[in-house]
Amino acid sequence: MSAIDSLPPLREVIAAHDLRAKKSLGQNFLLDLNLTARIARSVGDLEGSDILEIGPGPGGLTRGLLAEGARRVLAIEKDARCLPALAEVAAAYPGRLEVINGDALEVDPLAHLTPPIRIAANLPYNVGTELLVRWLTPPDWPPFWQSLTLMFQKEVAERIVAKPGSKTYGRLAILAQWRAEARIVLSLPPGAFTPPPNVSSSVVHLTALPEPRYPADPKVLERVVATAFNQRRKMLRASLKGLAPDIEDRLRACGIAPTDRAEQISLEGFCALARQMES
Ligand code: SAM
Repeated sequence: MSAIDSLPPLREVIAAHDLRAKKSLGQNFLLDLNLTARIARSVGDLEGSDILEIGPGPGGLTRGLLAEGARRVLAIEKDARCLPALAEVAAAYPGRLEVINGDALEVDPLAHLTPPIRIAANLPYNVGTELLVRWLTPPDWPPFWQSLTLMFQKEVAERIVAKPGSKTYGRLAILAQWRAEARIVLSLPPGAFTPPPNVSSSVVHLTALPEPRYPADPKVLERVVATAFNQRRKMLRASLKGLAPDIEDRLRACGIAPTDRAEQISLEGFCALARQMES
């Protein structure tokens, strides 16, 4: 394994700072710096962007991003035990790494970043999904970020890129594909992580579109989609009954059969229905 920088290997960093993985923080570390450099290369224009990294841990992906030329990295880490290891990375890349010790669900990073901004993270499942939904659902578009490069459980990654008709198609696919281009760039077995998680993982890359693919109010679209997929096996005339008494007419008015089920409806169809609900 060739070194990507002059810092010690991550196994030594973890031993030196006693960074035993905590389950409660979803800590499954990537120790192969060639792999983290590869993930960093899938982020996009690193030299011309500020990178927001969530959950740097001992700094594997952070080092990949910096070694591959990131202009600046702002890293938000909840676990204070990681700070000394991250300070060593900051010292090796003067002026290019800032670390905030805090919860990414609460810290507002915008004051610390200069556009264009790209986001990269290997996060615990629940935090990652919550942040992804937040990043995809601001009231105005385009958002503050150009791209998201995020590690998820493989099953969640498949939900993000799913197409109509598949079992994994649902709210995440619609929110992601409405306003972004989403693709899986890399899949990793449990053994790529220390300690290994129970499931495989995938890196998803999302690029923000200049404007949503079809017009719709984000709040109305979210409500329609959440309601439709909440009872995904039911016909839409039943699952959406609570949204409007004349739901069958509204469905027909946008070319959707009231007997269809949520997973048969395209993104365009859901956006048409969201607009129809406002008329
Ligand atoms: N990026 C490192 C890597 O790839 O090896 C660590 C990944 S580990 C799966 C997740 C990291 O996110 C841990 O360092 C954990 O402490 C941190 N973390 C968990 N919840 C967080 C939160 N709410 N805000 C910020 N960091 C968080």
